[in-house]
Amino acid sequence: MAAISLARLRSRVETLARFGALSGGGVTRTCWSPQHEEARAWLLGEIRAAGLEAWVDPAGNVFGAVGTRAFGADAPAVLTGSHIDTVPEGGILDGALGVLAGLEALQTIREAQAPHRRPLAVAAWSDEEGRYGSLFGSRAFCGRLDLTRVEAMTAVDGERLVDAMARAGFDPRRVGEATAPAGAVAAYVELHIEQGPRLEEARIPIGVVDSIVGVRRTRVAFVGQADHAGTTPMERRRDGFLAAAEYALKARELVVKHGGGKSVTNVGVVRVHPGVTNIVPARGELVHELRGPDPETLAGLDRRSVSLARRVARRRGIDVEIQPMSATEPAICSARVQAAIEQACATLGIPSTRLYSAAGHDAQNLAAITDAGMIFIPSKGGRSHRVDEMSDWDAIERGANVLLHTLLGLAA
Ligand SMILES: [Zn+2]
Repeated sequence: MAAISLARLRSRVETLARFGALSGGGVTRTCWSPQHEEARAWLLGEIRAAGLEAWVDPAGNVFGAVGTRAFGADAPAVLTGSHIDTVPEGGILDGALGVLAGLEALQTIREAQAPHRRPLAVAAWSDEEGRYGSLFGSRAFCGRLDLTRVEAMTAVDGERLVDAMARAGFDPRRVGEATAPAGAVAAYVELHIEQGPRLEEARIPIGVVDSIVGVRRTRVAFVGQADHAGTTPMERRRDGFLAAAEYALKARELVVKHGGGKSVTNVGVVRVHPGVTNIVPARGELVHELRGPDPETLAGLDRRSVSLARRVARRRGIDVEIQPMSATEPAICSARVQAAIEQACATLGIPSTRLYSAAGHDAQNLAAITDAGMIFIPSKGGRSHRVDEMSDWDAIERGANVLLHTLLGLAA
């Protein structure tokens, strides 16, 4: 039975970890940065050294293929992949594992001359972590990127996407050319670390992802009245911050009560205006994020949050501005891909369980154009998006072999 080489995979994971390596461990390799572009050049070299065709599309997605190069509806490809960009001070496996295990699986298939009817390819999707726009490369590939917005896409520190792309040698006006023709992808499967504690706690080596959470972000601003913080009697104050604080606490209760046990919420950005000690805040603004795997539950939480914000504002006698920032719908993984993963696990004698992904992934874009699914392996301590993110090497080997046999099953 065909099997991947852990030594080769480990060596590539450890080499990729050097691009943007931090002295205390972990890595900072945001998309289009010099560290990322060096990693891209290295990856293209590794794909060619593995005997695969290598190319980069105008959105910065890197591809490697066994045999045929382009994506065409005449020969739909079975595709795997993930991303090589990281969050600032991230770990060495998030994204990197899926790309390098995909490369390893394809190299194994080529060397073993394992039979496959469909073309096979691996992708490294650009800017998955969304420094300039979340899941940018896979959005472009799947035709889900609003091209009129590319010019305006900007990182939190103000750097424009078009400038970052130009510096890396890309022409932002050509991003639309990255869209794959309809029917070009026969199936997509992505290997990823779980980034949470469920598999490790259940002692199950493989997770078969059945859905990926949708994420909604809304800017909620409570607008009251600035007043002298000493001379204004308490009952006359119209404090924007206190309204925002009340909203944040009640929004949490709302999600715990009506979220079906799988939805979560976070308020990670809060701004107070004018933001000085001796003025009652006129404005309390926050960014409210909701995530959940069930479309109806998520939509319901969104509606309830809006009425909560209005209720809080009304009772406090102030105004509220509600501005939706972004919304991705939960993605359902294909039954055919889930069955192929479970068949691969059965072939290898590895136990698996179904679970939903609590984080967003490129697979949710692919799910809009083809049968898509994901394979999870346990994360140590459930840690991710931090420098000590890791998985056991034998867990990585199991995951890569499940990916290999899933790809063979889907391409048969
Ligand atoms: Zn990732």
